[in-house]
Amino acid sequence: MLRLPPLPPLPPLPRFLTHRPVVVASLCVVLASLCVTALGSDTPFEYVPPVVAAIDPDADPKPDPVPEAKPSNGKKKNKKKGKAKAEAEAVRAAKEAEADALDLLRDRIAEKLGAPKGTDEAKNGVLRVAAAASVPAATPTPAVAPASAAATPQRPAAPATAASAPVIMVAVKPSAEPRPAPAPAPVHAAHWDYQGSGGPESWGRLKPEFAKCSTGSRQSPIDIRDGIKLQLDPVQFDYKPSAFRVIDNGHTVQVNVSGGNAIEVMGRRYELVQFHFHRPSEERINGRQFDMVAHLVHKDSEGRLAVVAVLLERGGAQPIVQTVWNNLPLEKGEELAAKATLDLNGLLPEERSYFTYMGSLTTPPCSEGVLWMVMKNPVPISAEQIGIFARLYPMNARPIQSASGRMIKESN
Ligand SMILES: [Zn+2]
Repeated sequence: MLRLPPLPPLPPLPRFLTHRPVVVASLCVVLASLCVTALGSDTPFEYVPPVVAAIDPDADPKPDPVPEAKPSNGKKKNKKKGKAKAEAEAVRAAKEAEADALDLLRDRIAEKLGAPKGTDEAKNGVLRVAAAASVPAATPTPAVAPASAAATPQRPAAPATAASAPVIMVAVKPSAEPRPAPAPAPVHAAHWDYQGSGGPESWGRLKPEFAKCSTGSRQSPIDIRDGIKLQLDPVQFDYKPSAFRVIDNGHTVQVNVSGGNAIEVMGRRYELVQFHFHRPSEERINGRQFDMVAHLVHKDSEGRLAVVAVLLERGGAQPIVQTVWNNLPLEKGEELAAKATLDLNGLLPEERSYFTYMGSLTTPPCSEGVLWMVMKNPVPISAEQIGIFARLYPMNARPIQSASGRMIKESN
């Protein structure tokens, strides 16, 4: 690897070589000079090889550069003989070889770093700092290095940090793949809510898949008014006593109902999947909002959604609601299987005229194409029952969305 410059042809020096004090003294001088040089440079030797490897891991393997014959090498040599001269020569040669090795190392690193070879920076003993420090300023690098790195470019810190310039260089290449700059918007993303930074106004920006929440044109809920009165077929409810599980999902109390419940509307059959509550009611009728609403979510065999909204108004106790509340799980996110069964016919108003329109889910991702049927007549719920829900969710209603000229049908 590193070739020592050829020593001048030495005459047979049996006396010199066998003169023990001289040999020992020479070795000591060489060792001392090595130590002094190493101490004088703050190059962390053990760190240099990883830097080179990390910067250019898949560069073409270059042949080992032939050490350039320094002009000084030849000049300094003389042919004089004698013990003292030979000693001095041996020491000098050793020093030069050591110095050349360092220079060569600096040059190679500087070359890897893209610094001009042989610059002052590359020679001043703090090469890997200075040589690379001149690069980032001109490099359109994503701001990977913290501001503190720019503030103290001359002081290399621990090798693992980005505080020294070569590490900035190191960071450039990897940053192209595994370390994307933190995206500004969706940092707090996933959590949507009904107020604060995750509130309805920002739902559409929280995740790409929530975009409809802000860009959709057929969103729910709406203020239902100016419906077209028609002879609509009644919604056929095919509900029966069923097992159920209750979950507080962090946005509402939801009841997952076992299979076998369905509705038929407009010639299509939709299976009941779950129902849940909002306080106050999300939908309004001619501007009027109700204490609560139950949304019964159905899905047909092709995945189309149909939601029946049952408005809940303060009055007498609601037995179905009470059964659900009785089975509230203690922990959020934990589904609790109830021992009891639910017959959801008991949650429906006696008179089942309704409004219908096409809208969306009222929670992210706000998917559209949802068939809504809003029961005109509210169902009573007691103040205590409202109060129990309010302790969990005092307000979980999405604001009214523009009806955007959508057709609203109203059954007689
Ligand atoms: Zn809902």
